[in-house]
Amino acid sequence: MTKQSVNRATYDQVMLPIYSPADFIPVKGQGSRVWDQQGNSYIDFAGGIAVLALGHAHPALNQAIKEQSEKLWHVSNVFTNEPALELAQKLIDNTFAERVFFANSGAEANEAAFKLARHYAITRHSPYKTKIIAFHNAFHGRTFFTVSVGGQAKYADGFGPKPADIIHVPFNDLNAVKAVIDSHTCAVVLEPIQGEGGITAATPEFMRGLRELCDENQALLVLDEVQTGMGRTGKLFAYMNYDVTPDIITTAKALGSGFPLSAMLTTADIASVMGVGTHGTTYGGNPLACAVGNVAFDLINTKEVLEGVQQRYQWIVDELMAINQRYGVFSQIRGQGLLIGAELAPQYANQARDILTLAIKQGLMMLNAGTNVLRFTPSLIITQEELAEGMKALDKAIAEFVHLSSI
Ligand SMILES: *Cc1c(COP(=O)(O)O)cnc(C)c1O
Repeated sequence: MTKQSVNRATYDQVMLPIYSPADFIPVKGQGSRVWDQQGNSYIDFAGGIAVLALGHAHPALNQAIKEQSEKLWHVSNVFTNEPALELAQKLIDNTFAERVFFANSGAEANEAAFKLARHYAITRHSPYKTKIIAFHNAFHGRTFFTVSVGGQAKYADGFGPKPADIIHVPFNDLNAVKAVIDSHTCAVVLEPIQGEGGITAATPEFMRGLRELCDENQALLVLDEVQTGMGRTGKLFAYMNYDVTPDIITTAKALGSGFPLSAMLTTADIASVMGVGTHGTTYGGNPLACAVGNVAFDLINTKEVLEGVQQRYQWIVDELMAINQRYGVFSQIRGQGLLIGAELAPQYANQARDILTLAIKQGLMMLNAGTNVLRFTPSLIITQEELAEGMKALDKAIAEFVHLSSI
């Protein structure tokens, strides 16, 4: 039996009030199924916000953490360790990259990427080459630099003076970038698919155009693949869906598949501007996290899993279209792989949270992306049975939502 001396009411008594978690407390997970304190079960279409690429309690990940936990948890970066070197080698062997920096979260990987882009431009070119071009609705994390590069004022405002020389333009608008990019630009930063901002993919022309503009202006193309990386789109990284090679990418969420772990990847040339002491972290690249990361990497980076993502995408989109036939709640279904967004039709605008609450009653955990989009980011290996059960619950939740809206 689980300890029930704490419950949802405890939350408001002890936690910083920055989240508004659901009314139930999950205590156990297996695959894409989760149980709460009362023993109710849920299908998990949220995957811990695109983190649990291999579902809950994957036996191989459990084994990895058990084995490594009995050997070595942490040594700090005063010493290196085998799991970190092995994982870095795998990332290099399977991407454009030649150098890796490990951290613990998406924001930290992005913080490193933005500092690197600035430092590269300043040391190689000029102390005035510091402009970062980023996009409206972008999300890059919650440290002060990353939230400033992010394109949502509601997250960045209210904390005093921000890091300067960051400019935001509309996403997928190449002319808007052309109008502001110049020799003082050090980097263009984007998510290949904007996640938190509403599941909007960069068009191929936009991505190629950015690469050209960066080359013409000696600026770096930085891709935030914190959410899109590690198989989420059906390729190991989303940039591989485009005919473009970036200069820096970051990845996190699925990299540790539930254990905090992130990475920034770049070329040897760009990495060479950093010296001992230029940047660092205490926990980043610790052996426990990297031992999990190694096993997760080997499981995700297979033809079977990556092709399975594509099949699951098709199945989910077909089901969402069928739901839409019945209820007419969506105006658009978009995304790639297992990063899918269903935008609500105008008459249901901004009610995504209400649907999530009704879904919980039907035994389904899901996410929104902004106030107007339902987001689907399940495990990359969610089973057909779990998918079908989850969709049935979603159908019921939407039936109730439509009914409640009509009265
Ligand atoms: C989740 C996310 C982040 C932030 O990651 P944290 O681990 O919460 O710091 C940054 N960028 C993107 C695209 C994300 O989806």
